Amino acid sequence: MKVYLDNAATTKLDKCVLDEMIPYLTDVYGNASSIHSFGREAQEAVDNARMKIAKLLGATDSEIYFTSGGTESDNWVLNGIAKNYKNKGKHIITTKIEHPAMLNTCAKLEKEGYSITYLDVNKEGIIELSSLENAVREDTILVSVMFANNEIGSIQPIEKIGAFCKEKGILFHTDAVQAATSIRIDLNKFNIDMLSMSAHKFNGPKGVGLLYIRNGINIASFINGGHQERNYRAGTTNTPAIVGMAKALEITYKNMEENNKKILKLRDYFVDKILENIPDCKINGSKNNRLLGNVNIGFDYVKGESMVIALDLKGIAVSSGSACVAGSSEPSYVIAALGGKKEDSENSVRFSIGKDNTIEEIDYTIEVLIKLVSKMREVSSLFKIIKGGTLEV
Ligand code: PLP
Repeated sequence: MKVYLDNAATTKLDKCVLDEMIPYLTDVYGNASSIHSFGREAQEAVDNARMKIAKLLGATDSEIYFTSGGTESDNWVLNGIAKNYKNKGKHIITTKIEHPAMLNTCAKLEKEGYSITYLDVNKEGIIELSSLENAVREDTILVSVMFANNEIGSIQPIEKIGAFCKEKGILFHTDAVQAATSIRIDLNKFNIDMLSMSAHKFNGPKGVGLLYIRNGINIASFINGGHQERNYRAGTTNTPAIVGMAKALEITYKNMEENNKKILKLRDYFVDKILENIPDCKINGSKNNRLLGNVNIGFDYVKGESMVIALDLKGIAVSSGSACVAGSSEPSYVIAALGGKKEDSENSVRFSIGKDNTIEEIDYTIEVLIKLVSKMREVSSLFKIIKGGTLEV
């Protein structure tokens, strides 16, 4: 059996999304910037997609900018605000558990003379509002706090942060790349000034995302070239991907309640069975204040990376730490930020359940996990695990 439990890394393209995209990959192939009919037809599709997305998010279409995904949106926000607001100040507040797209851009800005405050999180992976209040300075130009974390799924108090930033007159950005799948985001209610999203996390195509920028914010353009995206983000418009993202978001919003209910049921069943049958393991992050499909488990005496490899051999796809930083066997900085034992950041495995998972797949995963964890605790080194042979389950 093959089981995909890595929906936080990416999701399967929805068939209806593909159908919506195909005409723009085949017949309607004009460049959306061209003035002839081929181009105009493509531009019309992009305009419609922008309007559809704006409506779903409670924005106006002039506030939606298409990008190549979450990484680009995060980079743009930080660089664009830092550049245009530097006369007001050079201080930015974020958290210790942001995605590398944020953290590595912050590190770059620090080298350029900006000052960044990285807020701590509590043991549930959530920031304390008081730490944000204490961190604010005269020269703070931006607060950027992710909506929900990619590794442990913890959901931040976005509405409260938004209200606080509004009161202080500080711009507020949130990386909603993980949250968009299961949470209806109300930009106005939450006082969000800027927001990053990525289509491939909600059954849309890869390589397309958006940055919501509230009207009136003076952000610097990110990619220079042609006049696309109102001169802010140059490059030939990716018409099929944009059309696909709009369709994917529409389907996601339409089915959200039903899918959330199904995912929650699978998640609770999975967690209960694991805790019941596997000793010395714990759920990392918040019990309730987390993304529905996220199950991050720390298995004592077992390395997370080894578990990922061993589960893969049984056809089960999961992540240790974040897939976006995979390839490095660094301990998880997100788990480390929760303040537990050192080993906690090395023995975690992320299972991310999606709308297409079934109870049979979850049962199979539980069955494999129970045997695997026990076997792996008998072997002593990562070497033995990678070489296999001792891991027949
Ligand atoms: N932000 C978060 C929270 C993510 O989880 C990811 C990807 O996993 C990104 C940003 C990067 O998004 P993209 O893959 O579209 O570049």
